Formats: sequence, C-alpha cells, structure tokens
Amino acid sequence: MDRILVSACLLGQPVRYDGRAKEIRDALLTRWRGEGRLVPICPEVGAGFGTPRPPAEIMAGFDGRDVLEGKARVLEAGGADATAAFLEGARLALETARRNDCRFALLTDGSPSCGSTFIYDGGFDGRAKPGPGVVAALLSAEGIAVFAETRIAELAKALEGGGGS
Ligand code: SF4
Repeated sequence: MDRILVSACLLGQPVRYDGRAKEIRDALLTRWRGEGRLVPICPEVGAGFGTPRPPAEIMAGFDGRDVLEGKARVLEAGGADATAAFLEGARLALETARRNDCRFALLTDGSPSCGSTFIYDGGFDGRAKPGPGVVAALLSAEGIAVFAETRIAELAKALEGGGGS
C-alpha cells in the first residue's frame, strides 16, 4: 500500500511560520491516516527553523526549481538569506520520502517549501504566482508525484491507479 508524504501543518501540527496549523478535514485523509499511510514532515522545522519564524519567499521572478539550481535565493521578510536552510529542508523531505517508500506527496500550497501549484512572488505583499516551492521542486525532480491539498481527489485517483502527476 503506497505511503504518502504529507505536510505536517495539513495534519493539524502548528508548525507554520505564524505558529498555526493549516489542518484540512477530508474523509480521504482520515481514511489514509487510519490505514497508516501518512508520513508527516515539516521541512522547515526539520531544517532547524523555530515556530513562529519570519515569513520567507523565493526572490521575485524565480521559483523552487531556480533555488535548486543555485539561480535564486530564499529571503526572509527582513532580508536575511535563508536559502541554505530551505535546501536542507528539501533534502530532508526527500530522504524521508525515500526511507518510507513514498511515491506520492500531499503538500501545502503557497509555501516557499511545500507549494506546488503556486508560491508568493517575493514582494511580501500577498501576491501569488504559479510555480513550486523548493521541496515540491526537488521531490518532483526525483520522481515523487506532488499534489497540493486542493488536489486530494486527484491524489486518490493516482493512488488507485498506481500512477501520479
Ligand atoms: Fe507546512 Fe511545509 Fe510550511 Fe512546514 S514547511 S509549515 S509542512 S507548508
């Protein structure tokens, strides 16, 4: 039975930068939890960030793929460079996925780490843009199918079919 790497904040853990969770209540998730399929991770906490912590965004004009390629940095709102820690969080997420044989991931959209369909645009003004965060970019590049929490039904189909996107 496939296991699923899941952003810990989606499971109710208060690990977000603002000290809150982003819990989703969904029958599928409840079922998967009961089946022992879920592998929770917070890449940012795993990389050593505290909670709460300053908000961070990937530099304007770039996304997580660019961060992996060394073309862009992740900056905290105050300007501090958090790139190394974000890369470490992504590495930890991949290692956890591999150790648990996860071919699928359900990650919180919008995060500079876990975002998959969108992230924020680097201006710290709430504007979003399409593209993945650092964790989603690395997992996808390594063949793990990443789904945002808004795509949980697609994840369920992929699990049934043994495939993914
Ligand atoms: Fe949630 Fe991912 Fe942010 Fe951790 S890094 S708080 S799991 S979105």
